[in-house]
Amino acid sequence: MRTTGSVEEVRELVAETRREGRRVGCVPTMGALHRGHTSLIRTAVADCGFVVVTLYVNAPQFNDSDDFLRYPRQLEDDLANCRDLAVDLVFAPDDRTVYPPEGQTTVDVGRLGTLFEGQHRPGHFLGVATVVVKMLNITSPDAAYFGQKDYQQQLIIRHLCRDLHLPIEVITCPTVRDDDGLALSSRNVLLDSRQRATATSLSRVLRQTHDRWKNSTVTLATLRRDMSNQFGSIPEIDLDYATIVDGETLEETAEPGESLVALVAASVGSIRLIDNLRLDVDTESTLEN
Ligand code: AMP
Repeated sequence: MRTTGSVEEVRELVAETRREGRRVGCVPTMGALHRGHTSLIRTAVADCGFVVVTLYVNAPQFNDSDDFLRYPRQLEDDLANCRDLAVDLVFAPDDRTVYPPEGQTTVDVGRLGTLFEGQHRPGHFLGVATVVVKMLNITSPDAAYFGQKDYQQQLIIRHLCRDLHLPIEVITCPTVRDDDGLALSSRNVLLDSRQRATATSLSRVLRQTHDRWKNSTVTLATLRRDMSNQFGSIPEIDLDYATIVDGETLEETAEPGESLVALVAASVGSIRLIDNLRLDVDTESTLEN
C-alpha cells in the first residue's frame, strides 16, 4: 500500500493502473475509520482492481468549530486498517494541498443542498461538494463509494456527477449499525454511556416507522406526526427534523412515489447524529458482510 499527500503522485499511480486496464475505485472519507467505512472499502476492493482511500478532515463542511476541533483523528490506525483491507493507495493530503491559498472556486449544489442537513448546517454541502469534486478530480476513479448513512449527501453527489459530467459511477453502500441499531459514526465515540443509550432511539423510531408503513394503512402525514411526537417525548433528545420524504427529490410528498425514505437528525447532549431508513424496501442489509 502506498500513502501519499501528493496530487502528482496519485495521478501518476492512477494513470499507470489505467494503462494496465484496471478499474479504479475511490472511497472518500474523513478518517477515524469504523466498520461503516470499512464496508465501503471492502465493496470497492471486491469491485475494482485498484482502490484509493482518501483521508481528509475537511474544515469547510463543519459549520460548528467545536465539532471540527473534537472530530476524532487517528491516522496511524486508519493506515493499518487500510493496509489490512488491501487498499492500494491512501491519499492523505494537508490543507494547503487541498485548498491552495490562492483558491477561490467552490461547488454550489443548488436546491437539494438547502434542505434538511443544508438548512440545519449552513454551508455544509458547499463544503462537502467542493472537497468531493477535488478528491474525484485528483483520483479520477471509475467508481466512487458512499454510505447510505448520509442519505442526502449520496443523493447530492449523484446529482453533482451527473450535472458536472463527471464520468464516475456513484455506488451507495448500506448503513452499517451496531447490534443495538445505532448507525456507526465517527462521532459515536464522543457519546457517554447514557447518551449512547438515548441515541439508539433514532434507529428504533425509524424501524417502527418502517414497520407501520409496511404493515398498516397509516398515512404518511400521521407517520410524520408520530415520529416527531416520539422524539418529542424523549427529553434528552434535541430534534432537528424527523420526517418522510421522496427518496429522489427529498420532498415531503403526500402520495408515496417510487421511493420513500425516513430521515432523522437530532442532538444528544452536544453530539449531533443523523440516520435514515428506506421505507420502500422490506429490509435493509444493516450488518457488515
Ligand atoms: P465520513 O468519514 O463521515 O465523511 O464518511 C465517509 C463515508 O463513509 C461516507 O460516504 C459516509 O456515508 C460513509 N459512512 C459513514 N458511516 C457509515 C455507516 N455507518 N454505514 C455506511 N457508510 C457509512
